[in-house]
Amino acid sequence: MKADILSIGTELIMGELVDTNAPYLAAHLPPMGIELQRITQAPDDLDSLVQALEQAFHRSDLILTTGGLGPTEDDLTREAIAQLLGETLHVDPQSLEGLKETFRRRGIPMPGGNVKQANLIPSARLIPNLLGTAPGWWVEKGGKIVIAMPGPPTELYPMWQTEVQPHLRLLAPETVILTRIVKTFGLAEATMNDMLLPLFHLPNASLGIYAQPQGIQLRIRVRAPSSDEAQKLVSPVEAEIRRLVGEYIWGADEQLLEEQIGKELREQGLTLATMESCTGGLLAHTITQVPGSSDYFRGGLVAYSNDIKIAWGVDPALIREHGAVSSQVAEDMARAARDRTGADLGIGTTGVAGPGELEGKPAGTVHIGLAYPGGILSFSRRYPQPRSLVKQRATTHALLELWRLLCRLRG
Ligand code: ATP
Ligand code: MG
Repeated sequence: MKADILSIGTELIMGELVDTNAPYLAAHLPPMGIELQRITQAPDDLDSLVQALEQAFHRSDLILTTGGLGPTEDDLTREAIAQLLGETLHVDPQSLEGLKETFRRRGIPMPGGNVKQANLIPSARLIPNLLGTAPGWWVEKGGKIVIAMPGPPTELYPMWQTEVQPHLRLLAPETVILTRIVKTFGLAEATMNDMLLPLFHLPNASLGIYAQPQGIQLRIRVRAPSSDEAQKLVSPVEAEIRRLVGEYIWGADEQLLEEQIGKELREQGLTLATMESCTGGLLAHTITQVPGSSDYFRGGLVAYSNDIKIAWGVDPALIREHGAVSSQVAEDMARAARDRTGADLGIGTTGVAGPGELEGKPAGTVHIGLAYPGGILSFSRRYPQPRSLVKQRATTHALLELWRLLCRLRG
């Protein structure tokens, strides 16, 4: 079954409201075997709505709309669906009585505008709305289904969960769409693309690549009659990805790098400390986002000025000789963090977050030091601006190198 989602509201088009309804609905479709074709946003304008509906109707078997079911002049979803199907609106007496009853219970007279919420066309039946006055519409015609739901998420979510999803599940064929996300860091998107080239045209699985703050993610997507069969299609593709780019992979699905590291540190009984310059505490913040991180994170210092670096034990001669932004100082910061706190592992970060240059070194230059019982390592990179991204990438890179080291220590 193919589906379209149509989010209705001029606020969406004006950039005043972020569409959260469409992603909510979209996330529920793959497990039901429903293949989403397109998400569209349309303003509260009859011609635009009819046009958007026509296109969706042409493309898909199922159209899910949200918004425009209210009592005001600019709520036009019902009118648009009627026009799409060439049917005439009439007031449904039973529904009107229900609406009046709702207002009687609220102790206020029903405003005239609400009458249109009792409007119906022959192909539609009303979907009860327990949390608002606007009922939804379930429309079936010519083998196609149009489901119109209210805009407010507080009304949409319960209507979807109790009135729409269970009925759709009965109609949708027994199909599961399974997605597996493999998370990587350290390879450029195009390089990754080249290395995985043979996997892009498999008959039963589709592969996607997209960049995320924590690195490049690979998305394997399959469809099968059951979860078990879907899993059987995913596994060999994932195994092949691991064979080709395994050393760049740090996790899968919902996993976060900081969680993976926490798990490793705990299992290996190791502790960690940080001394940060260019990341300004973001590294310590990210590490401590994980519940229970106090088990392995001893603490950290934001050593922004050279004075503070030296006060915490960084060798001033190294700063004089190589500058604060250098792999030598990053390594010494890592060593000092380790020495000062008694942690097993120390990380140091130093760099030029930007936008200007520092010590003649260009914005985006980052050095990461990693001290552990067996020695000291450093890694250098240059990241693109803006400043916030440099801090984010440097943090991720530091965590990734730490994670790699932990894997090596595990053996
Ligand atoms: P109402 O009876 O409240 O008028 P409605 O079905 O007519 O409901 P809209 O008028 O389109 O819905 O939207 C009402 C409110 O619902 C919006 O102001 C907004 O807060 C929320 N809303 C609507 N559409 C969306 C959306 N796509 N994503 C998130 N929120 C939305
Ligand atoms: Mg409205």
